[in-house]
Amino acid sequence: MTDIIANVRDLTRYREEEALQKTFISIISHELKTPVSIIKGYAGTLRRPDGHWSPEILNESFTVIEEEADNLNALIDNLLEVSRLQAGTFTLEISDEVRLPRLAESVARRFATQTANHAIETDFPNDFPTVIGDERRLTQVLNNLVGNAIKYSPEGGRIIIRGEVHPEHVTVSVCDEGIGIPARDQHRIFNKFSRLDNALSRKTEGAGLGLYLSRAIIEAHRGRIWFHSNSDPEPGKPGTTFTFSLPRD
Ligand code: ADP
Repeated sequence: MTDIIANVRDLTRYREEEALQKTFISIISHELKTPVSIIKGYAGTLRRPDGHWSPEILNESFTVIEEEADNLNALIDNLLEVSRLQAGTFTLEISDEVRLPRLAESVARRFATQTANHAIETDFPNDFPTVIGDERRLTQVLNNLVGNAIKYSPEGGRIIIRGEVHPEHVTVSVCDEGIGIPARDQHRIFNKFSRLDNALSRKTEGAGLGLYLSRAIIEAHRGRIWFHSNSDPEPGKPGTTFTFSLPRD
């Protein structure tokens, strides 16, 4: 009897794996193809022998190419990490003195060049301590959270990366004024390949890996990640705030 149950369980797991694999292939091929075809389209147009492009058009086009290459890069980074997680070869590269305020500022600066209608600010107290951690992976978490804050606040608004110091741990929050996450979907947004079915998700690029990976990275640091969201923005409290904690050394 237990054998049968075990077999049914294995089969279910196998089917789930198979379904996941299919989702993986279709999402990834779509997500990789989109930036590549945008880049190819722009490059092809720019090199047309009869094209006499104004400096503004050239500038705009190169900006799009650069942004799409950045998107591609971020997706490849996420994919590599997810396969490392799955293969069990994910290990942190720890350094002793990670300066989160500095990381947050450089992430804010980089994203600020990609959006005209968001103001991205950082707010860390002067005595914010250094933490022990994997600088590249923690930057990746911030990239995913700030990237989402921009993607899911199409009307623009303020995005604040805020640090707080507590006796045992520090927290970093990324706060946006965007569309929020409906209560019925909140339980699944950290799942692998989980994208919410709203008009915006269909319009924006994304493979549903960013939050899954961010949670894995934060938990590998013995931290936690959570969020508060309001999907029916009322004046004064719209948007979503993602927060992660990391232990103090
Ligand atoms: P992706 O953005 O690639 O779809 P993520 O794992 O980063 O994948 O996010 C999963 C889903 O959670 C998104 O598709 C989106 O629906 C929702 N989400 C994430 N961050 C936000 C946010 N700041 N505001 C609203 N919805 C969000």
